[in-house]
Amino acid sequence: MKERNTNQKQLILAAIKTMHHPTCDEIYLQVKEEYKAIGRATVFRNINNLVENKIIKKIVALHGADRYDYISEPHSHFQCKRCGKLIDVFYEPKINVPKSDLYEATDYELIITGYCKECLQEKNDKEKKTWN
Ligand SMILES: [Zn+2]
Ligand SMILES: [Zn+2]
Repeated sequence: MKERNTNQKQLILAAIKTMHHPTCDEIYLQVKEEYKAIGRATVFRNINNLVENKIIKKIVALHGADRYDYISEPHSHFQCKRCGKLIDVFYEPKINVPKSDLYEATDYELIITGYCKECLQEKNDKEKKTWN
């Protein structure tokens, strides 16, 4: 039983490593391709377990569903306001969180927003058209 659980977790982790900031559902669909018998609840439970063990990171997205990321090297994220695409930003700001009786800070997440290259291109094209 333990062996089987480990295999499921390895399979899920392997899938996440090949994907680019997938959502829970995207991970589930990917794993299901190889392992048809796996249930959605099992996949979700393993994802949460990987997050708890800090093997993958949950990115609480500003737009759309939350995403997951395999932790290779520390980085932040840029998210496009228009299409929701996430791009890795290899920059980790050092911040000093004020101490408080109301919380104990353990992590923080920087999400920079704006427009991705493709959306900017589309925006520029549209503007050109209206000018002509
Ligand atoms: Zn975009
Ligand atoms: Zn990332």
